[in-house]
Amino acid sequence: MLQQTQVKTVIPYFNIFIKRFKTLKALSKSSEKEILKMWEGLGYYRRAKNLLACSIELVNNHKLRLPKTLEEIKKLPGVGDYTGNALLALVYNKPRIAVDGNVKRVISRYINIIEHKINFNKFIEKNKKKLFTSNRNADLVEALMEFGALICRPKDPKCLICCLNKSCKYFKSKHKIKSSRKKIIRNKDYDVFCYINKKKQIALTNNNQISFLKNFYMPYIKETIHYRKNKNWKFLKNYKNSISNLKLNINLYYKFSDKIPPSFRWHSLEENKEFIPSFTKKIFRQVSTLF
Ligand code: SF4
Repeated sequence: MLQQTQVKTVIPYFNIFIKRFKTLKALSKSSEKEILKMWEGLGYYRRAKNLLACSIELVNNHKLRLPKTLEEIKKLPGVGDYTGNALLALVYNKPRIAVDGNVKRVISRYINIIEHKINFNKFIEKNKKKLFTSNRNADLVEALMEFGALICRPKDPKCLICCLNKSCKYFKSKHKIKSSRKKIIRNKDYDVFCYINKKKQIALTNNNQISFLKNFYMPYIKETIHYRKNKNWKFLKNYKNSISNLKLNINLYYKFSDKIPPSFRWHSLEENKEFIPSFTKKIFRQVSTLF
């Protein structure tokens, strides 16, 4: 839940989640529909799907135990180097470091070399005797992430109170490296077409050919390269929306109709037991102003 998401956002979701799923077995018996509903609003829904798939795999094929090697652990759905190393350190106290953006920044500053010139795996292997000096590897992996977030912060690192400042090359150097991690934001324009009816329902499909929220239920969405007038549709509103590194410029259109294309299903604009992504809920709010 914490990947790409702030702690304060995660806490209420986490509390509900662990109350509902007290064991891995309980989680494995859930459904994608239920997990997604609980995840609603947290974004990055692939995490939720992978978590469920992982629990099923662990129950069915691993006797409820996490594998103990990186090679094996990476065979689990959605587990790559970062999550694999974090799990090995946190669960088995293995000498591993989960190399995320924070850790990369700390190492890069400490040796005053820009990130893309560092092979982090090699660096860790070469310095393992200095890095893993106690048997508190689980604490170390968490401490490094916190250190990057609170002390060696992206902007304005707290070098004067930093316990590493005596040996840190960034702190000592007159030619400090510049931060190389800039999130690349992509701007995209989309036309969104909503079929609605007098019962306050909207027709949604999971068959859109777009690069985000794939296979989730949404109105018909089309990327627009050049502005075009959309005949037979009424323009409702223009607004902006962001999804991870995408900045979306949305033109929202609607039409009252009882007939909808075959792949569409009617959904209530007011109450939904099913999972609806925030992106779609925002559309619901705009369309609801018509009633
Ligand atoms: S001295 Fe400054 S740059 Fe170096 S590790 Fe500490 S906070 Fe980061």
